[in-house]
Amino acid sequence: MKIVLPYAGIVLLVGPSNSGKSTLLKSMIDNKEILSSEVVSSDEFRVLVSNIEFIDWRERPKDEADCLFDEYQNISKEAFSMMDSVIEARCRLNKLTFVDATHLHPDDRKRYRSLARKNHVPIVAIVLDIPLDTLIERDEQRDYSRGKRRIKQQYQVFKREKRFIKKEGYTSTYLLNETNNIELVRRSNPI
Ligand code: ATP
Repeated sequence: MKIVLPYAGIVLLVGPSNSGKSTLLKSMIDNKEILSSEVVSSDEFRVLVSNIEFIDWRERPKDEADCLFDEYQNISKEAFSMMDSVIEARCRLNKLTFVDATHLHPDDRKRYRSLARKNHVPIVAIVLDIPLDTLIERDEQRDYSRGKRRIKQQYQVFKREKRFIKKEGYTSTYLLNETNNIELVRRSNPI
């Protein structure tokens, strides 16, 4: 699939955990199609604000998992606030920014559409639609598992949201079932 990227603006990756958002962006960096400084990731901002890298959610008693989840929510709130400031500064400077987070909730996507509109830059959505079985399989194999329960929850939200995303008013929306064979075209001037 051919993906055309604007000169400046926001590229939202959308997809549940394990859909391959970070892997796709890393391959674009490795292929020198994009710069690592063009990617902001909620995981990295969580580390920046809290030192906490990943939480392994497997095999935790429910009470402990609930408590951790509350802490995780607080950390996420601070992390996203910092990340959004960086994205907005980059929009003001007419830079392109890839946002690596799940963006499953409509309010999160809306926030970035508003931010793009306010700063007069385009916003593109790259949506990764990967089957649940594959998401779970990848989760079992990765170093820091997100946990089957969370993956299933995220997938349900994604399934519900998928049909709305196309109509939400992005400059372009790309729906991908796999991440091979992507041809990236970058606009080389602001027009
Ligand atoms: P999260 O939202 O949890 O950060 P993500 O969508 O960014 O997840 P990745 O971190 O890219 O997902 O990948 C999660 C796991 O799935 C990794 O172990 C990665 O190697 C594997 N994975 C990602 N994409 C693919 C792919 N196309 N084929 C096989 N495995 C993949």
